[in-house]
Amino acid sequence: MSSSPSIKVVIIQSVLRGSGNSTILQEVATVHINDRELRVYAPPTASGKAIDWAPHFTARRQGGYFSEEDLQDQHKAWAIKAAKEALESEARDKSLAEGMHPDGIHCSAQVCKQGHIQHCDGMPFEAGAHCTKCGSSCIHECPHCKEPIHGAQAYGDTSLYVLPNFCHGCGRAYPWMEDKLQTARRLLDHDERLSYEDREELWSDLQYVMSDPKAPLVAAKKKLIEINLGKAGAVVKDVFTDIVAKTTAEMFKP
Ligand SMILES: [Zn+2]
Ligand SMILES: [Zn+2]
Repeated sequence: MSSSPSIKVVIIQSVLRGSGNSTILQEVATVHINDRELRVYAPPTASGKAIDWAPHFTARRQGGYFSEEDLQDQHKAWAIKAAKEALESEARDKSLAEGMHPDGIHCSAQVCKQGHIQHCDGMPFEAGAHCTKCGSSCIHECPHCKEPIHGAQAYGDTSLYVLPNFCHGCGRAYPWMEDKLQTARRLLDHDERLSYEDREELWSDLQYVMSDPKAPLVAAKKKLIEINLGKAGAVVKDVFTDIVAKTTAEMFKP
């Protein structure tokens, strides 16, 4: 029954300073839903980024009446969700323009779908470029959850940057890893030289190494992978060795 409503958001303020009066709410956005107008508010004393206060947003309608109580609740929920999304998208646009990740700790990053780093050191860039090495389209945020990709530490040594293989927001593999992983998993399941236990062990050790190439047990896990690969066929051996090497290797440095 849900025909999607027409929603437009006007952000009033994305940084809060406190209203100075403990009873006056701070307006964050005006949201137009079909012919209704709702205002989204943060608490009176809230300060800092408005988006951080999203769980405490309230919405109020302006003018007119809703015929049914449940309709009213639905509009409020839509309004709050739309305001939150608009604030997130504004933060993302701003971070591109400044070359900074919205977390303020990392630079933003732009990477082609094959894993070639385009930007990671705080220089501003434009979304939607194509890779100059391989022509693939580039992303700067997770295709699944839209969390911006971490670039180098903003005030650290950018030459130490290691391209992440998994999104820190939702934990799914970035496109440059997704293909390789799926291939590796399928090959693994077809390698009859390996027992079920061998396969599961290889798979979990590989994921350990890939989820954080700097984790303390990585050297040990790499050794275990090497040992277990001793029993594997040549193709599995090649693919796993390649993924492990690339996860920890020079080629992902800018
Ligand atoms: Zn590329
Ligand atoms: Zn994600």
